[in-house]
Amino acid sequence: MSIALAGVIGDPVSHSLSPFLHNAAFEHLGIAARYERWQTRSAELPARIDSLRAPHILGANVTLPHKITVVSLLDRLDPQAAQIGAVNTIVRLPDGRLEGTNTDAPATIATLREDAGFDPAGKRVVILGASGAARAAAFALIAAQVAALTIINRTLERAEELLADVLASSDDDPYLRALAPDDPDVPEAIRATDVIINATSVGWRADETPLPGHLIPATALVFDMVYRPTRLLREAAQAGAATLDGRGMLVRQAALSFERWTGAPAPLEVMFAAFDQARALAA
Ligand code: NAP
Repeated sequence: MSIALAGVIGDPVSHSLSPFLHNAAFEHLGIAARYERWQTRSAELPARIDSLRAPHILGANVTLPHKITVVSLLDRLDPQAAQIGAVNTIVRLPDGRLEGTNTDAPATIATLREDAGFDPAGKRVVILGASGAARAAAFALIAAQVAALTIINRTLERAEELLADVLASSDDDPYLRALAPDDPDVPEAIRATDVIINATSVGWRADETPLPGHLIPATALVFDMVYRPTRLLREAAQAGAATLDGRGMLVRQAALSFERWTGAPAPLEVMFAAFDQARALAA
């Protein structure tokens, strides 16, 4: 009998630390399964998704750049993934159908709460970015009853589209606005916020920042989803702000995916330790 498999689908995936987390968890629980990197270009995505229907597949993670395009290739979405319009986890159901879910959303909230002691209820939030990770954060934060949400994105139309979707999903009446990075209202929006979340990919590859450091108020929490030290976090610390990197989010979204595939409680501490070890080796 073939070993059970899960993997991460993206382009590129060679840098992904996810195999370390999941394989440590499989080993810790004595589950006969392996997690692999599945490099997949856009043209190859339909065939890759179809391959997940095989009985030995547990499921997959989906990462950049496929989190939104994969939606139309799946058989069903759970309600949260349908609302967000982005999938980071695919679960192979017992009958071979593929369900999309989004564990970035709950991982965002859990990380703010558990790693920074930040309760989003009633708070003012700025999200930088409007793609898959930003969408997950925006819907999760609205569900957590933030008072105000500002989306700042290079492509303003995407930010406006995200806000329209968020508005349609919410029974509450939070203050919402979409801004381009060069909008004259940006400095005031940043100054008046409780948390700034970087959900752009800026800072991932190069020492660049999506936000001029001099705008960051000392009173804010700055959360960068990138799981390495970044220029944004460095400049936020220099401004006296509290900082949080993407470590907790990466491990928690992985743990939630693991639980969907195996039905077993994820060994969170084992996954954190595996992440720390892998990040130190990759540095
Ligand atoms: P994505 O689909 O590639 O979206 C990229 C976002 O960054 C878009 O909003 C894009 O704006 C913006 N952007 C890209 N280059 C830019 C530039 N030069 N200047 C200004 N804005 C730029 O990525 P994603 O999947 O949403 O992920 C976003 C980030 O979050 C990535 O760094 C990813 O690694 C991180 N992430 C971390 C976790 C975790 O567990 N820690 C989970 C999910 C994501 P446009 O709309 O204008 O293109």
